[in-house]
Amino acid sequence: MAEIVILGAGMVGITTALALQERGHVCIVVDKTAPGQETSYGNAGLIQSEAVEPYALPGNPVNLIRMAFGLHNAVSLEAGYVLRNLRAFVSYWVSSQKARHADLSRSWAPLVQAATTHHGLLAEAANANHLIKRDGFWEAYRDPRRLLRAVQDAERRKAAYGAGFRSYDSKALLAQEPALKSGLAGAIHWPDTWSCVDPGALVTAYASLFVQRGGTIIRGDATSLERTRSVWRVAGVESERVVIALGPWTPQLLAKFGYMVPMISKRGYHFHFRGEHGLQRPMLLSDDSVVLSPMSKGLRIATAAELSQRPSLNPPRQLVRGERAARALLDFDEPVEERPWNGTRPCLPGMLPMICEAPHHPGLWVHFGHGHQGFTLGPVTAQLLARAMDGEPSAINEFNGSKSTFQGNH
Ligand SMILES: Cc1cc2nc3c(=O)[nH]c(=O)nc-3n(C[C@H](O)[C@H](O)[C@H](O)COP(=O)(O)OP(=O)(O)OC[C@H]3O[C@@H](n4cnc5c(N)ncnc54)[C@H](O)[C@@H]3O)c2cc1C
Repeated sequence: MAEIVILGAGMVGITTALALQERGHVCIVVDKTAPGQETSYGNAGLIQSEAVEPYALPGNPVNLIRMAFGLHNAVSLEAGYVLRNLRAFVSYWVSSQKARHADLSRSWAPLVQAATTHHGLLAEAANANHLIKRDGFWEAYRDPRRLLRAVQDAERRKAAYGAGFRSYDSKALLAQEPALKSGLAGAIHWPDTWSCVDPGALVTAYASLFVQRGGTIIRGDATSLERTRSVWRVAGVESERVVIALGPWTPQLLAKFGYMVPMISKRGYHFHFRGEHGLQRPMLLSDDSVVLSPMSKGLRIATAAELSQRPSLNPPRQLVRGERAARALLDFDEPVEERPWNGTRPCLPGMLPMICEAPHHPGLWVHFGHGHQGFTLGPVTAQLLARAMDGEPSAINEFNGSKSTFQGNH
């Protein structure tokens, strides 16, 4: 019998297993597929030191209206989806209000600031340093007024959290990124943000480290999880405790145990493009809300949030617009894939990830809801969870608040 079973082998599940293993626990990871093949594969690959505040709804009503009418590439919105999840959106809106958001940011910032240290230790131990680049990330603007406002906001974040940055006008930016055509007003360089040239491969490397240290990973369906007397059973394995780390699939499994956890699914897409694009570092095209990430497979263009029930079969509008904006700045060839990849950011309306034991099921732990920054935060929140499972005091108190997110009849 395993001591702890972890369901899910994404960045969050694998780093959970490593953190528990380091504390001497015997762990088994269960996933329906190989490690790092889902959301943790398809993201923009940023380990984001600059993301010191969780992603809020825009405060400016003009931006909200532009988003609602599809005039802003940051969000593609299906009214039916919003109406079906109205309660979650209202709660997200409440969390986005200035005072509440400032409170949440105070819990969030130290986690983000610890991320590169934790990834650095794991990447070293897993022989995965070649997958990580440590030379920062660009937040670029076409519109000079937006650049100016972004620099002012970066100054504010620097004063509040010490997030270092440097701003570049278009000439200085071209000197750093000679492959760019003109057209950008300039960019903010965030030097402490890291990037990964193959996010799925980084999770695979961390998973191999877990196995090398004596851990076990098996294929199985997490939905078979059940409890008889004080034992949890799943995929033919029995254990005393279970951690659900299924990313966007977590609420579905929790529903089986009577818990309703409202999640906002922010879908994103990517395509890789062939060719010598020449971009040195990842770049957020802020006016078009796409990230261009130089990756092993080619230039990955990843979109922002689509709020809809089902993914689009054709390349979605956000990706088409993003590709057009990227082609105005860089030369590159056709897409590698026939269809774009899509995946879902598991966003909780309260913005902080859920790291706690289920209130009415002893031994059932939950670790999910990292939203826009799960690839960054997995190794850090895994430490919080591991300490809490060992009954040690930790910063988990903030996240115990997430217990109130559990709704259900018990
Ligand atoms: C377009 C896009 C760009 C992003 N960019 C960034 C970024 O630059 N930086 C960043 O930090 N974050 C980014 N994110 C967010 C980040 O990717 C996620 O927060 C993170 O990957 C979530 O990790 P996870 O381990 O919780 O989920 P996942 O990686 O999805 O892992 C969940 C695992 O559960 C398994 N599973 C599901 N159902 C079952 C079942 N029934 N039985 C067994 N196993 C099951 C899956 O196979 C999967 O392996 C981005 C997300 C998107 C969509």
